[in-house]
Amino acid sequence: MSDALLVTGGCGFIGSALVRHLLDATDHRIVTVDVLTYAGDPRNLGPARSHPRHTLVEADIADTEAMHAVFEAHQPAGVLHLAAESHVDRSIDGPAPFVTTNVQGTVSLLEAALAHYESLDTEAQARFRFVHISTDEVFGQLGDAGRFQPDSPYAPRSPYAASKAASDHFVRAWHHTYGLPTLITNGSNTYGPRQYPEKLIPVVLRNALNGDPIPVYGDGSNVRDWIYVDDHARALHRAYTHGTPGETYLVGGGRELRNIELVHMLCGLLDAERPRSSDGSYADLITFVDDRAGHDYRYALDASATRDALDWQPTTNFHTGLQETVQWYLDHPERLEPEPHPA
Ligand code: NAD
Repeated sequence: MSDALLVTGGCGFIGSALVRHLLDATDHRIVTVDVLTYAGDPRNLGPARSHPRHTLVEADIADTEAMHAVFEAHQPAGVLHLAAESHVDRSIDGPAPFVTTNVQGTVSLLEAALAHYESLDTEAQARFRFVHISTDEVFGQLGDAGRFQPDSPYAPRSPYAASKAASDHFVRAWHHTYGLPTLITNGSNTYGPRQYPEKLIPVVLRNALNGDPIPVYGDGSNVRDWIYVDDHARALHRAYTHGTPGETYLVGGGRELRNIELVHMLCGLLDAERPRSSDGSYADLITFVDDRAGHDYRYALDASATRDALDWQPTTNFHTGLQETVQWYLDHPERLEPEPHPA
């Protein structure tokens, strides 16, 4: 029987892309651990949901006993840890779940992973990897110049970023203190189909299609470095197969855009695909709203070291990826509604 890989958060946006990729590209058994919060939807798995090499375990990563049981039952050869509370605005309104899941949950998972790792024979230990999926937001914000490097200092500014930064530190501590072969990826803003409709792109699409004002924080000048979800997922797999324990890998698409430019692009794509019944562009709906508290000005990653070390590069043309994303939401209008969906 093939080795199992454990993917936490596999019913979320990036996790589900990773599960689908791993089932396609490897012969691993994939064990998805997901507690199915509002952001988790088994439909994201698509055909992977009933794939013979896939198992979905509904469990909370902060439940240490449950995590021990998962490792015991499935004996994974490695872990890719994506489960998290992931939305900055929610972290500002209520930080507690971010501490429980992102910090305590990561520590519970590390404890269970270490106990499992210590039970493995030398050969399996040499192969074992714990890949922790984090964000560029741990590095704080940039001005107009420069890009984050793997050794950039941590300077998180939102509760979300602080919780991810804390989890990164615990992951490194488990490597240095206990010898667990962990590595960290810090990814940039990710776009694509199946993102929960609270994030910028689906919010713009929903409001535009409903004829509602399209909210843009501040003056829309904030800059993000965008990467397509499948490119991000492939990088995570490469980090598992080619990464060195103790290392940090920056996963960025190198496509920097001001938020307002992105919103205009989305409006242009909608104008072409689904013209408004009234004359005019969806861009007429753009409305500038009070800036988010502590809104980071700019993120940009220097992913060159990651490209070399992991022999990886993003392959999705930004315009094509954005077009596919818009088309997917047009084909699945129900996925623009933010209510929790039944499994
Ligand atoms: P998401 O919110 O779409 O998915 C998170 C998943 O984790 C959901 O399926 C949810 O049910 C699950 N989950 C939440 N709490 C859990 C818990 N306590 N136990 C088990 N499962 C739980 O998030 P995403 O956008 O796919 O992000 C995945 C990871 O990538 C996160 O760690 C995030 O910090 C990181 N990341 C995201 C981006 C981005 O732009 N989306 C960029 C860089 C890094």
